Amino acid sequence: MEHTGNSLAALNFYIDAGVDEVIGTVPLDRFAESKAAVAAPVAAPLAAPVAARPARSGPSARAAAPQSTNRADTEADISARALAAGAGDLAALRGAMEGFDACPLKKTAANTVFGAGNPAAPLMLVGEAPGADEDRQGQPFVGVSGQLLDRMLASIGLDREGVYITNMLAWRPPGNRKPTPEETSMCLPFIRRHIELVAPKILVFVGGTSATTLLDSRQGITRMRGRWFDYPPESGPETAAIPAMPIFHPAYLLRQPALKRFAWIDLLAIKARLEDIS
Ligand code: URA
Repeated sequence: MEHTGNSLAALNFYIDAGVDEVIGTVPLDRFAESKAAVAAPVAAPLAAPVAARPARSGPSARAAAPQSTNRADTEADISARALAAGAGDLAALRGAMEGFDACPLKKTAANTVFGAGNPAAPLMLVGEAPGADEDRQGQPFVGVSGQLLDRMLASIGLDREGVYITNMLAWRPPGNRKPTPEETSMCLPFIRRHIELVAPKILVFVGGTSATTLLDSRQGITRMRGRWFDYPPESGPETAAIPAMPIFHPAYLLRQPALKRFAWIDLLAIKARLEDIS
Protein backbone atom coordinates (compact mmCIF):
# COMPACT_ATOMS: atom_id res chain seq x y z
CA MET A 1 0.00 0.00 0.00
CA GLU A 2 1.56 3.27 -1.07
CA HIS A 3 1.24 6.54 0.77
CA THR A 4 -0.75 8.96 -1.33
CA GLY A 5 -0.66 12.68 -1.78
CA ASN A 6 -2.50 12.89 1.52
CA SER A 7 0.79 12.96 3.41
CA LEU A 8 0.00 16.23 5.16
CA ALA A 9 -3.33 14.89 6.42
CA ALA A 10 -1.53 11.75 7.61
CA LEU A 11 1.12 13.81 9.36
CA ASN A 12 -1.56 15.81 11.16
CA PHE A 13 -3.20 12.61 12.37
CA TYR A 14 0.15 11.19 13.55
CA ILE A 15 0.69 14.32 15.64
CA ASP A 16 -2.83 14.14 17.09
CA ALA A 17 -2.30 10.46 17.91
CA GLY A 18 0.88 11.25 19.82
CA VAL A 19 3.26 10.01 17.11
CA ASP A 20 5.24 13.22 17.27
CA GLU A 21 8.82 12.41 18.08
CA VAL A 22 11.71 11.91 15.69
CA ILE A 23 13.86 9.12 17.11
CA GLY A 24 16.26 8.41 14.26
CA THR A 25 17.91 10.06 11.32
CA VAL A 26 17.33 7.21 8.86
CA PRO A 27 13.79 6.40 7.66
CA LEU A 28 12.52 3.08 9.02
CA ASP A 29 9.44 1.26 7.76
CA ARG A 30 7.62 0.89 11.07
CA PHE A 31 4.57 -0.48 9.29
CA ALA A 32 6.58 -3.51 8.18
CA GLU A 33 8.17 -3.85 11.60
CA SER A 34 4.97 -3.59 13.59
CA LYS A 35 2.86 -5.72 11.25
CA ALA A 36 3.58 -9.05 12.94
CA ALA A 37 3.43 -7.61 16.45
CA VAL A 38 0.16 -5.80 15.85
CA ALA A 39 -1.66 -8.36 13.75
CA ALA A 40 -1.04 -11.47 15.81
CA PRO A 41 -2.25 -10.60 19.31
CA VAL A 42 -5.14 -8.44 18.23
CA ALA A 43 -6.42 -10.82 15.61
CA ALA A 44 -6.03 -14.06 17.50
CA PRO A 45 -8.78 -14.30 20.10
CA LEU A 46 -11.90 -13.66 18.09
CA ALA A 47 -11.56 -14.11 14.41
CA ALA A 48 -10.12 -17.01 12.54
CA PRO A 49 -8.96 -15.75 9.13
CA VAL A 50 -11.83 -16.20 6.77
CA ALA A 51 -12.43 -15.65 3.12
CA ALA A 52 -14.82 -12.88 2.23
CA ARG A 53 -17.91 -14.00 0.40
CA PRO A 54 -18.19 -13.20 -3.24
CA ALA A 55 -20.82 -10.56 -3.94
CA ARG A 56 -24.20 -12.14 -4.38
CA SER A 57 -26.13 -10.84 -7.28
CA GLY A 58 -29.26 -12.94 -6.74
CA PRO A 59 -31.92 -12.36 -4.13
CA SER A 60 -30.61 -12.45 -0.60
CA ALA A 61 -31.80 -14.86 2.05
CA ARG A 62 -30.12 -12.83 4.80
CA ALA A 63 -31.74 -9.55 3.83
CA ALA A 64 -35.07 -11.33 3.62
CA ALA A 65 -34.74 -12.93 7.06
CA PRO A 66 -36.64 -11.28 9.90
CA GLN A 67 -34.54 -9.25 12.33
CA SER A 68 -34.47 -10.28 15.95
CA THR A 69 -36.53 -7.61 17.67
CA ASN A 70 -39.11 -7.90 20.37
CA ARG A 71 -41.83 -6.14 18.47
CA ALA A 72 -44.18 -7.33 15.79
CA ASP A 73 -43.15 -6.66 12.22
CA THR A 74 -44.85 -3.72 10.60
CA GLU A 75 -45.72 -3.55 6.93
CA ALA A 76 -42.77 -1.21 6.51
CA ASP A 77 -40.38 -3.81 7.99
CA ILE A 78 -41.70 -6.45 5.65
CA SER A 79 -41.46 -4.14 2.67
CA ALA A 80 -37.87 -3.08 3.54
CA ARG A 81 -36.84 -6.72 3.78
CA ALA A 82 -38.41 -7.62 0.46
CA LEU A 83 -36.88 -4.61 -1.31
CA ALA A 84 -33.41 -5.26 0.10
CA ALA A 85 -33.53 -8.97 -0.64
CA GLY A 86 -34.64 -8.37 -4.21
CA ALA A 87 -31.89 -5.88 -5.04
CA GLY A 88 -29.44 -7.71 -7.28
CA ASP A 89 -26.74 -5.05 -7.34
CA LEU A 90 -25.78 -1.75 -5.75
CA ALA A 91 -27.65 0.35 -8.31
CA ALA A 92 -30.82 -1.64 -7.65
CA LEU A 93 -30.34 -1.30 -3.89
CA ARG A 94 -29.86 2.45 -4.20
CA GLY A 95 -33.01 2.69 -6.33
CA ALA A 96 -34.96 0.56 -3.84
CA MET A 97 -33.88 2.75 -0.94
CA GLU A 98 -34.60 5.97 -2.79
CA GLY A 99 -38.10 4.68 -3.48
CA PHE A 100 -38.73 3.47 0.08
CA ASP A 101 -40.91 6.04 1.82
CA ALA A 102 -41.96 4.14 4.92
CA CYS A 103 -39.03 5.09 7.15
CA PRO A 104 -39.94 8.23 9.13
CA LEU A 105 -36.34 9.47 8.80
CA LYS A 106 -36.72 9.71 5.05
CA LYS A 107 -39.53 12.23 5.38
CA THR A 108 -37.29 14.84 7.00
CA ALA A 109 -34.06 14.06 5.14
CA ALA A 110 -33.00 16.05 2.08
CA ASN A 111 -31.15 13.13 0.49
CA THR A 112 -30.68 9.39 0.62
CA VAL A 113 -27.01 9.05 1.54
CA PHE A 114 -26.18 5.73 -0.06
CA GLY A 115 -22.42 5.24 -0.14
CA ALA A 116 -19.20 6.53 -1.67
CA GLY A 117 -15.77 5.37 -2.68
CA ASN A 118 -14.74 2.21 -4.44
CA PRO A 119 -17.12 -0.74 -4.05
CA ALA A 120 -14.35 -3.03 -5.34
CA ALA A 121 -12.00 -1.97 -2.53
CA PRO A 122 -11.14 -4.60 0.07
CA LEU A 123 -12.12 -2.32 2.96
CA MET A 124 -15.67 -1.18 3.72
CA LEU A 125 -16.44 1.30 6.50
CA VAL A 126 -19.88 1.58 8.06
CA GLY A 127 -20.68 4.69 10.09
CA GLU A 128 -23.84 5.58 11.94
CA ALA A 129 -26.02 8.02 10.01
CA PRO A 130 -25.63 11.14 7.92
CA GLY A 131 -25.26 14.49 9.68
CA ALA A 132 -26.30 17.88 8.33
CA ASP A 133 -23.46 18.19 5.78
CA GLU A 134 -23.93 14.64 4.53
CA ASP A 135 -27.68 15.17 4.24
CA ARG A 136 -27.13 18.34 2.21
CA GLN A 137 -24.54 16.83 -0.12
CA GLY A 138 -25.93 13.29 -0.31
CA GLN A 139 -22.49 11.85 0.50
CA PRO A 140 -21.26 10.04 3.63
CA PHE A 141 -18.64 11.56 5.93
CA VAL A 142 -18.13 14.92 4.27
CA GLY A 143 -18.42 17.10 7.41
CA VAL A 144 -15.84 17.63 10.15
CA SER A 145 -15.94 13.97 11.25
CA GLY A 146 -15.41 12.98 7.65
CA GLN A 147 -12.37 15.23 7.45
CA LEU A 148 -10.89 13.50 10.48
CA LEU A 149 -11.79 10.12 8.98
CA ASP A 150 -9.87 11.14 5.86
CA ARG A 151 -6.83 11.96 7.99
CA MET A 152 -7.14 8.63 9.78
CA LEU A 153 -7.29 6.76 6.47
CA ALA A 154 -4.38 8.77 5.11
CA SER A 155 -2.31 7.75 8.14
CA ILE A 156 -2.36 4.17 6.85
CA GLY A 157 -1.93 5.11 3.22
CA LEU A 158 -5.58 5.02 2.18
CA ASP A 159 -7.85 7.53 0.56
CA ARG A 160 -11.50 7.54 -0.48
CA GLU A 161 -10.74 5.58 -3.64
CA GLY A 162 -9.08 2.84 -1.60
CA VAL A 163 -12.17 2.20 0.54
CA TYR A 164 -15.95 2.06 0.32
CA ILE A 165 -17.90 4.08 2.90
CA THR A 166 -21.51 3.93 3.91
CA ASN A 167 -23.67 4.32 7.01
CA MET A 168 -25.99 2.07 8.93
CA LEU A 169 -28.80 4.51 8.17
CA ALA A 170 -29.12 6.30 4.86
CA TRP A 171 -31.24 9.15 6.21
CA ARG A 172 -30.29 11.85 8.69
CA PRO A 173 -32.15 11.66 12.00
CA PRO A 174 -33.56 15.17 12.54
CA GLY A 175 -31.25 17.28 14.69
CA ASN A 176 -28.82 14.32 14.69
CA ARG A 177 -30.89 12.62 17.36
CA LYS A 178 -30.31 8.95 18.04
CA PRO A 179 -32.40 6.80 15.69
CA THR A 180 -35.17 4.89 17.45
CA PRO A 181 -34.93 1.07 17.68
CA GLU A 182 -37.87 0.90 15.23
CA GLU A 183 -36.06 3.05 12.65
CA THR A 184 -32.84 1.11 13.06
CA SER A 185 -34.53 -2.24 12.84
CA MET A 186 -36.53 -1.20 9.77
CA CYS A 187 -33.37 -0.09 7.96
CA LEU A 188 -31.23 -3.10 8.91
CA PRO A 189 -32.07 -5.19 5.82
CA PHE A 190 -30.70 -2.38 3.64
CA ILE A 191 -27.29 -2.17 5.27
CA ARG A 192 -27.04 -5.96 5.50
CA ARG A 193 -27.74 -6.29 1.80
CA HIS A 194 -25.36 -3.40 1.10
CA ILE A 195 -22.55 -5.29 2.84
CA GLU A 196 -23.50 -8.49 1.05
CA LEU A 197 -23.34 -6.82 -2.35
CA VAL A 198 -20.04 -5.03 -1.72
CA ALA A 199 -18.62 -8.22 -0.17
CA PRO A 200 -15.53 -6.52 1.29
CA LYS A 201 -12.56 -8.46 2.57
CA ILE A 202 -12.56 -6.41 5.78
CA LEU A 203 -15.26 -4.39 7.53
CA VAL A 204 -14.67 -1.48 9.87
CA PHE A 205 -17.56 -0.33 12.03
CA VAL A 206 -17.05 3.35 12.70
CA GLY A 207 -18.51 4.01 16.14
CA GLY A 208 -20.57 2.09 18.65
CA THR A 209 -23.92 2.26 16.87
CA SER A 210 -22.96 0.31 13.78
CA ALA A 211 -20.70 -2.02 15.79
CA THR A 212 -23.29 -3.01 18.38
CA THR A 213 -26.15 -3.22 15.92
CA LEU A 214 -24.44 -5.17 13.17
CA LEU A 215 -22.52 -7.42 15.56
CA ASP A 216 -25.59 -7.84 17.76
CA SER A 217 -23.58 -6.94 20.84
CA ARG A 218 -24.36 -5.19 24.09
CA GLN A 219 -20.79 -4.21 24.79
CA GLY A 220 -19.71 -0.60 24.53
CA ILE A 221 -17.37 0.69 21.84
CA THR A 222 -14.55 1.05 24.38
CA ARG A 223 -14.61 -2.71 24.91
CA MET A 224 -15.21 -3.61 21.29
CA ARG A 225 -12.70 -1.36 19.53
CA GLY A 226 -9.49 -2.89 18.34
CA ARG A 227 -10.85 -6.45 18.35
CA TRP A 228 -11.69 -8.60 15.38
CA PHE A 229 -15.20 -10.00 15.16
CA ASP A 230 -16.95 -12.14 12.61
CA TYR A 231 -19.61 -10.45 10.53
CA PRO A 232 -22.31 -11.62 10.42
CA PRO A 233 -22.08 -12.72 14.04
CA GLU A 234 -24.14 -15.84 13.44
CA SER A 235 -21.88 -17.07 10.63
CA GLY A 236 -20.79 -20.67 11.00
CA PRO A 237 -18.87 -23.21 8.94
CA GLU A 238 -21.34 -22.89 6.07
CA THR A 239 -21.52 -19.10 6.00
CA ALA A 240 -18.14 -17.50 5.49
CA ALA A 241 -17.63 -14.50 7.75
CA ILE A 242 -15.97 -11.18 7.11
CA PRO A 243 -13.41 -10.00 9.69
CA ALA A 244 -14.82 -6.83 11.24
CA MET A 245 -13.22 -4.31 13.58
CA PRO A 246 -15.04 -1.55 15.47
CA ILE A 247 -13.13 1.72 15.90
CA PHE A 248 -13.89 4.95 17.73
CA HIS A 249 -16.07 7.31 15.73
CA PRO A 250 -14.19 10.42 14.54
CA ALA A 251 -16.89 12.62 16.09
CA TYR A 252 -16.05 11.02 19.44
CA LEU A 253 -12.33 11.48 18.81
CA LEU A 254 -12.94 15.16 18.12
CA ARG A 255 -14.46 15.42 21.59
CA GLN A 256 -11.88 13.11 23.21
CA PRO A 257 -8.61 13.76 21.35
CA ALA A 258 -6.60 11.74 23.88
CA LEU A 259 -8.28 8.61 22.51
CA LYS A 260 -6.71 9.13 19.09
CA ARG A 261 -3.79 6.97 20.18
CA PHE A 262 -6.17 3.99 20.42
CA ALA A 263 -7.55 4.78 17.00
CA TRP A 264 -3.99 4.74 15.73
CA ILE A 265 -3.37 1.28 17.21
CA ASP A 266 -6.58 0.04 15.57
CA LEU A 267 -5.66 1.57 12.23
CA LEU A 268 -2.32 -0.23 12.33
CA ALA A 269 -4.10 -3.53 12.98
CA ILE A 270 -6.43 -2.86 10.05
CA LYS A 271 -3.49 -2.03 7.81
CA ALA A 272 -1.70 -5.21 8.84
CA ARG A 273 -4.80 -7.29 8.14
CA LEU A 274 -5.21 -5.67 4.74
CA GLU A 275 -1.63 -6.54 3.92
CA ASP A 276 -2.21 -10.11 5.05
CA ILE A 277 -5.05 -10.60 2.64
CA SER A 278 -3.48 -8.85 -0.35
N1 URA B 1 -21.23 10.47 11.09
C1 URA B 1 -21.53 9.27 10.56
O1 URA B 1 -21.61 8.26 11.26
N2 URA B 1 -21.70 9.20 9.23
C2 URA B 1 -21.60 10.25 8.44
O2 URA B 1 -21.77 10.09 7.23
C3 URA B 1 -21.29 11.48 9.01
C4 URA B 1 -21.12 11.58 10.34
